[in-house]
Amino acid sequence: MTRKLFVTTALPYANAPFHLGHIMEYIQADIWVRHQRMSGNEVHFVGADDAHGAPIMIAAEKAGITPQEFVAQIAAGRKQYLDGFHIAFDNWHSTDGPENHALSQDIYRKLKAAGFITSKTIEQFFDPVKNMFLPDRYIKGECPKCGAKDQYGDSCEVCSAVYAPTEVVKPYSVLTGATPVMKSSEHFFFKLSDPQCVDFLRGWALQDERLQAEVANKCREWLEPKEDGSNGLGDWDISRDAPYFGIEIPDQPGKYFYVWLDAPVGYLASLKNYFGKIGRDFEAFMADPSTEQIHFIGKDITYFHTLFWPAMLKFSGYKVPDRVYAHGFVTVSGEKMSKSRGTGISPLRYLEIGMNPEWLRYYFAAKLNAKVEDLDMNPDDFVARVNADLIGKYVNIASRAAGFISKRFDGIVATDWATEDDAFLNNLRRVAPEIQALYEGREFGKALRAVMEQADLVNAYVDANKPWELAKKTENDAKLQEVCSRLLEAFRILTVFLKPVLPQLAQQVEAQLNIAPLQWASVGTPLPHLHKIHPYAHLMQRVDIKIFDQLFDAPVTTPAAVATAAVSGSSAATPPSRPSPSQGEGENGGAIEALAPEIKIDDFAKIDLRIARIVNCEQVEGSDKLLRMTLDMGEGRTRNVFSGIKSAYQPEQLIGKFTVMVANLAPRKMKFGMSEGMVLAASAEDEKANPGLYILEAWPGAQPGMRVR
Ligand SMILES: [Zn+2]
Repeated sequence: MTRKLFVTTALPYANAPFHLGHIMEYIQADIWVRHQRMSGNEVHFVGADDAHGAPIMIAAEKAGITPQEFVAQIAAGRKQYLDGFHIAFDNWHSTDGPENHALSQDIYRKLKAAGFITSKTIEQFFDPVKNMFLPDRYIKGECPKCGAKDQYGDSCEVCSAVYAPTEVVKPYSVLTGATPVMKSSEHFFFKLSDPQCVDFLRGWALQDERLQAEVANKCREWLEPKEDGSNGLGDWDISRDAPYFGIEIPDQPGKYFYVWLDAPVGYLASLKNYFGKIGRDFEAFMADPSTEQIHFIGKDITYFHTLFWPAMLKFSGYKVPDRVYAHGFVTVSGEKMSKSRGTGISPLRYLEIGMNPEWLRYYFAAKLNAKVEDLDMNPDDFVARVNADLIGKYVNIASRAAGFISKRFDGIVATDWATEDDAFLNNLRRVAPEIQALYEGREFGKALRAVMEQADLVNAYVDANKPWELAKKTENDAKLQEVCSRLLEAFRILTVFLKPVLPQLAQQVEAQLNIAPLQWASVGTPLPHLHKIHPYAHLMQRVDIKIFDQLFDAPVTTPAAVATAAVSGSSAATPPSRPSPSQGEGENGGAIEALAPEIKIDDFAKIDLRIARIVNCEQVEGSDKLLRMTLDMGEGRTRNVFSGIKSAYQPEQLIGKFTVMVANLAPRKMKFGMSEGMVLAASAEDEKANPGLYILEAWPGAQPGMRVR
């Protein structure tokens, strides 16, 4: 029976380009979707940008554009990643689209009518300068547990303590540096504590293998009655006060939905938008009991997807999700990706330097399973799997067989063979359902291992029959044609097995073999006798380990990337994004700015360079070049330094970073105040033609006040 599937990936927050964690999730979902399509199922695979919330509002304001313009710029950059890695969403939309406004408000109205919305007055930190309530991440101060300075309002990066913003010592607003004040406001809550919610969720989360075992266990914990006799879940604050970039709460002027309310509704909105384009009835599709709604997400957002989201849908009368599949994060050589250590990988950089996207798809697939496990990307392992398995075992079968068929037999295959030699072909056909089942269960690594075992058997047949030996004598022609035809048939079946992972390679194979697009059902339909194939062309290059030097080169910071914390979407460690190639990648043929005259070491020693921590950084009113920095170099006081890097950085990107400053530069009186030093930044000689500016950042471990020599 044909299944009807509605599949989504988590919605990425629209304040930054995709990182490798996003690409991994999309590849995982895309493989599963392609497998479903090859099975003949009806699949609608949609994504969208998560466009709302304070971080985007603030970033847009800093950039001097509207939030709508800001998210449109980010959205415009999505296609190159999705196309680049052969990720075939049917639709990509935005949570700021009209469908999402309408659906979110409808869900709210229905929840309200059913008695699931309540309100209460809460006290929150408020920035009296900016006139807005501050999200926890916009409050910093000293950690109440360990005393570390400049920690976020919700958790400490030094001792990992988690706390309420009100517990922070000497709190300040990240936006203005002002001391926040407590202010009260009416907030709206979704009554997750309602016994009906808890009863529903206990059933939903724990039955039908809807969730992976480890996620279901987490849910069981969350839903367990607490010691005080309460039922485990608290009400969920779903409102935010203006100014806020979001969807207005019906009949509540100045109140907006918290971004996490409308973000998952964006799944429905994207599907509705897509159905509008193709003339399908969204309501009918969602009302059809046979429709399966499936979400692929990162492990960090299971709470939202296994409690709030299904409960919201259930009690507003919408369809609830059928499956939620969580995955782990991507690490690189065992470490969290980090720009300061140069272990980040930018997906665009990967494509720019000519690495094959299907290598990455194969590599990720080989390491993915159905569990919530982190996936480590390791260059040696990557090279081994691509070269030894993918190319050595699979692609080589074609190169060993197709050439002879083309050169010696005018491209004609002969498949009217006697059956006694068919063991490896029968084997291939026999394991097809098992491999299909592994894809179905998202055990991609096991599926590829099973495929490679089959490829080994095919290669054993090659070694036993040695087509290159047969080719030496024309009297062996019939045998050579048969052996190579068998190999091409085996290669065709292996291509079916790999097609969900390697869609482009499969397409090349289909073109060369001159056959219709392969489906799972194609396994049982061999190449017809006397079928003519097209001349063999090389299918895939091997990967050279040296290319990783380019992938992981010097740590970089992109001025365009806005370093605000993502509110939703998978938050796998964020790698640096690369500047565009036009911004100088050593492409000017080695022509660098002329060197300054030679100096002696004593001359250099006159310059006192120190590590400084950027305690605060802010815009300078009236200046279009300068940022004002408050620097701590361990002197027991801070220094005020103006730096002409406004074009390259948002102030909040720099707060908390360790940089290098010239500490013994004579203070300079400037229009906006005294500058007591200078921070170091790299730039091209011709700043007009090549406007990038790159502030220096110290490696972890350097302390304020250390001399740079
Ligand atoms: Zn701490």
